[in-house]
Parts: sequence; C-alpha cells; structure tokens
Amino acid sequence: MTQKESNGGDTMKLADTYMFHTYARFPITLVRGEGCRVWDEDGNEYLDFVGGIAVCALGHSSPVVTRALEAQSRRLVHVSNLYYTRPQAELARLLVENCFADKVFFCNSGAESNEAAIKLARRYASEAFKPEKRVIVCMDNSFHGRTMATLSATGQAKVQKGFDPLLHGFTFVPFNDVGRLEQAMDESVCAVMMEPIQGEGGVVCPSPDYLNAVRSLCDQKDALLIFDEVQVGMGRTGKLFAHEHYGVTPDIMTLAKALGNGLPIGAMLATDAVAGAFGPGSHATTFGGTPLVAAVSNAVVSELLDGGWVDHCREVGDHFRQGLEGLVERHALALGVRGLGLILGLELDIPGGPLVKYCMDAGFLINCAQENILRFLPPLIVGKDEIDSLLSTLDNVLAKAAKLVEE
Ligand SMILES: *Cc1c(COP(=O)(O)O)cnc(C)c1O
Repeated sequence: MTQKESNGGDTMKLADTYMFHTYARFPITLVRGEGCRVWDEDGNEYLDFVGGIAVCALGHSSPVVTRALEAQSRRLVHVSNLYYTRPQAELARLLVENCFADKVFFCNSGAESNEAAIKLARRYASEAFKPEKRVIVCMDNSFHGRTMATLSATGQAKVQKGFDPLLHGFTFVPFNDVGRLEQAMDESVCAVMMEPIQGEGGVVCPSPDYLNAVRSLCDQKDALLIFDEVQVGMGRTGKLFAHEHYGVTPDIMTLAKALGNGLPIGAMLATDAVAGAFGPGSHATTFGGTPLVAAVSNAVVSELLDGGWVDHCREVGDHFRQGLEGLVERHALALGVRGLGLILGLELDIPGGPLVKYCMDAGFLINCAQENILRFLPPLIVGKDEIDSLLSTLDNVLAKAAKLVEE
C-alpha cells in the first residue's frame, strides 16, 4: 500500500469525528515502522524513543514477529480455552523457567493481568486465612490500569476522577516510605501491590533496601507481594525482570506490554502455593493466550533471551544514562536522571510538553510523564548512534529552552 492510499490528512478528521476523544494525540498519522524508526503518511521519518510505550522491545516490523505470526496464522488462530493448545503451554514453560513463578495465567492486557492478581490475592487470603483479609495496599502515584479494579488500585486522582464509587479495600502509602507502610500493614491486609520501578509515576526507582523492607513486612503480616512488571519487565531494565536488580522476589507478578511486542497479551504469574487458590471456573477469558498471540510471544521472549538483548539493553542503557547525565551537567533546567537500562527519565525544571513537541519536529518521538519528566522507552535493540543523535537534539532543545526562560 502506498502512503497516499491512506487518504492523507483525512485520518485525523475521521478519527476525531468517529472516535471517542479519550486520547490527547499528537497530530501525526503513522503508517510504517522498521527497527527503531517509524514514518508518517507524509513520509517524515522519526526515531522512536517511545516504542509503543515499552511494548516494541524488538522494534517495529521485527522479522521474529512476522515469521511467527505468518506460520501460526496458517495453522491455528483461536479455539478458546476449553481445549489445550501447544503455544500457550510452551510460553508458560518459557516464562516459568526464567523467573520465580510456577504457574501462569494468560490474558490480553496489563489491566487484565492486574485484575487477575487482585482476584487471586483476595481468593487466596479468604481460603488460607479469613474472609475479612481483603485490603490491598498500593502506592501513591502508581499505575495499574483503567478497569474499575485497577483504577481503584491506581494512586492518581486524575485516573479515578468521576468514576466513584470505586472498589473498596485499597489503601495508599507513599512509595519509598517504610514507616508509612508499616502503619498500613494490619491484619486486614491481604497484599501489597506495586511497581518495582514506577513508570507512569515518572520513572521512580526504589531506594536501596526498600523492596526488602516491603517483602519482610508482607511476610510478617501474612500478606502477598504483587509486583506489577507490566512496563519494566521483559528486559527493559537490563535484567529480564526489574525485581532481580533488588534481590527481592514477589508471590505474584504481572506482565504485558513487551510480552507480545505489539500483539495484545498479558500474563499473571504466581508461586504454586498461591496459584492453588484459583481452580476451574474461578477466573477465565476468551482470548487469553490464543495460539496466535502465544506463538508470537514465544518467539519474542526466546529472541529477547537468546539474542542477547537484555545484555545489550544494559550496555546501551548505561551509555544513554551517561549522555543524559552530561545534559544535567550542562543545562541548569535538567535536574537529574532516573531509571535503569532503557527506562530512563530526565527530570526538568520546566514542563516537558514543549520539548516533546520540539523533538517530534526534529524527528524524534519521546514522551513526558508527570508533567516534567521526559521519559525514554526505546526498543531494546536501539543502537548507540541512535541514542547519540537523540542526545544531541536534547542538547539543542535544552539550550533553547534555557534562552526562552531567560527572555
Ligand atoms: C501500561 C501499564 C498497565 C496497564 O496496561 P494496559 O495494557 O494498558 O491495560 C498496568 N501497569 C503498568 C505498570 C503499566 O505501565
């Protein structure tokens, strides 16, 4: 298909006329991608440092995805979970062999994987302890999704606004505050649910030993620890799972985003001790782990592991971080660098929106979290040269931004 067949500038008008206005979109229509690059319908090229929001780990139009998609689509796409299918069983084994968990439940998104985790934690507590053990402690500024349960677990007022009554039984404490968590951990708590590194919250890392303290408080109070690794899992931080950096193991972990490199898949993983609380009929989804999506995810995860991409992520992530630290030294408006591997944030003294726009005009897609944190989530296959070209554009825009503020 040629680019003009998509009917040029009409796309935005069509979308705005016929679709809910639930997204504040940038005014470009993307038609093609390859590796770390995407093109809009006018043929403009962009280096993609958003990566589908931490989804396209192997980049766009990855031959790994195309091959698996093509082969499995000729074989079997969907039959429902009334029957066994090989790709989902193999994907479950691959995941279990590479993490703490013993069992996997497949679904279709990050929110769904967190829904499953919330249900499992409550079911487990009601069976192993007492039905009153219901409360899930969550973090301020967290993000767990947009369904009613997951937005109830999300510690951001803007996500919850206008949707009350929310689900009962969620309490919130500040991230990195052991004292406040200790106060919140009474007998009614069945789980602590948190991102090991907060993504939407602005790339916030745990302070040393915080996750250890969370783990021991959970153990003391017979509460489960749920890590939402939807954004930071699958190699993004330079280890396959972010919690490996901190030597702290959860009871339940949720995955999605990069798991299918763009095909919709989520997974909720747990130890055998906890997974036993879900029996036949306790939880289900029509599409979860279809042969098609699971076959692609198998190929994606295998490539992440066998292709050396997690090591590559750590190496280029260090290079990226050093470059960003250089920007902090040179520009008073750049306050600091956060993150690990290829989830990095640059904290600014000013709103980041105009800088995102400037970078887009210069051919770079970047993102801004929490108003003033520029967030970078490129494909894990990104090269140092591509990182360097973004760094030099950021250098320019920060110099200009400083001048603008002086004027
Ligand atoms: C994106 C995200 C979710 C929600 O995933 P969806 O697929 O959009 O439902 C949940 N938790 C975290 C940490 C995320 O980054």
